[in-house]
Amino acid sequence: MSHHDDHPKWSTDTKCIHAGQAPDALFGAVAPPIYQTSTFAFESTEQGAARFAGKDSGYIYTRLGNPTIHMLEENVAALEEGAGALATASGMAAVSTLFFALLSSGDHVVCSQTVYGPSRLVLERDFARFGVRSAMVETSDTQAMRDAVTDKTRLIYIETPSNPTLAITDIAEAARIAHEAGALLAVDNTFCSPILQRPIRFGADVVVHSVTKFINGHADVVGGVLVFRSEELMKRVKPVLGFLGGTMDPHQAWLVLRGVKTLGLRVRAAQENASACARFLAAHPAVASVAYPGLPGHPQADLIARQMAGPGSLISFELKGGIEAGKKLLGSLKLATLAVSLGGVETLIQHPASMTHAGMSRESRLQAGITDGLVRLAVGCEDKEDLLADFKEGLDALI
Ligand SMILES: *Cc1c(COP(=O)(O)O)cnc(C)c1O
Repeated sequence: MSHHDDHPKWSTDTKCIHAGQAPDALFGAVAPPIYQTSTFAFESTEQGAARFAGKDSGYIYTRLGNPTIHMLEENVAALEEGAGALATASGMAAVSTLFFALLSSGDHVVCSQTVYGPSRLVLERDFARFGVRSAMVETSDTQAMRDAVTDKTRLIYIETPSNPTLAITDIAEAARIAHEAGALLAVDNTFCSPILQRPIRFGADVVVHSVTKFINGHADVVGGVLVFRSEELMKRVKPVLGFLGGTMDPHQAWLVLRGVKTLGLRVRAAQENASACARFLAAHPAVASVAYPGLPGHPQADLIARQMAGPGSLISFELKGGIEAGKKLLGSLKLATLAVSLGGVETLIQHPASMTHAGMSRESRLQAGITDGLVRLAVGCEDKEDLLADFKEGLDALI
């Protein structure tokens, strides 16, 4: 059971616990061993030569591969139903390695305008220096995405639900548009985790995760992963990761293997809390509007039902009192912690215009729907009644 292809019938929850993790052959350890080593001894010069020539699949050096890291790669590949995966030092190492491997001077990228801020900056600021052009579009508008494609487009890069507006992009349509143009589709699936959305099923070629968020889930590791639809595509990216060096560390991989075991439990518990919080917020007189994929009457309800197994645990809302009311609320909550990030067991709250999206111009922010008073809430796994009581107290003080 060391390879995910050996057990395609397992449910995602079972894969979280077992995929990629064969019992330890040496001592029978139930938890995976941490191979905390930089290098691996060869039995002979012939064996060393065969490993470098790719004729012997054994390990050489941890930047190029390591058994503990490989267990995590096999685990997440199984969860996302991909052919293989590469673990990286951070989510941004996954994003930048992917761009570096797939894009050349003169190429064009179509990107969701509300992707994770640094992913957008890497394209607009760094890859632009090397002659890669990118179009930032509202990809939840399928026609706008189609119109942005040029004969130079090599990659469509989307995030759905988007950050922090929670607009949904149709993954199957994005895949169709990319493939008709001879381009690839990459989906940042961090917000959903493979519990709620598996983009390869809808035609994505690559899935990106910041495992810092749901997959690890305990706010104690920074890490990333790329999952590939095909072995061929992974073979294009693997040497780039190995030589650019954004590799994960074995101990980091071990912590994530520990976190991922409870992924399904955590995602569903946080989602149940988030549904209750979204309904509470929507009904509160201090709140002007709430964006949450699970609220009744969502304009993209059909697409959400087709593409996602649940609405998740991220909520954006706007207070009637604008930015001043936001400051007051963020300062008064006791349970929801004022911090960026998401996907951990603890509830976090932040203000995108002054924090995660401060790097964007105000004009681009407003164009992307990120108003000055927008608050983003990443609901955790605390007791639902405790969370609601915290919000009631904070919001009641605003009216
Ligand atoms: C956090 C995040 C990233 C970047 O991941 P790091 O692990 O912080 O480098 C990328 N995409 C999304 C959607 C994220 O939330």
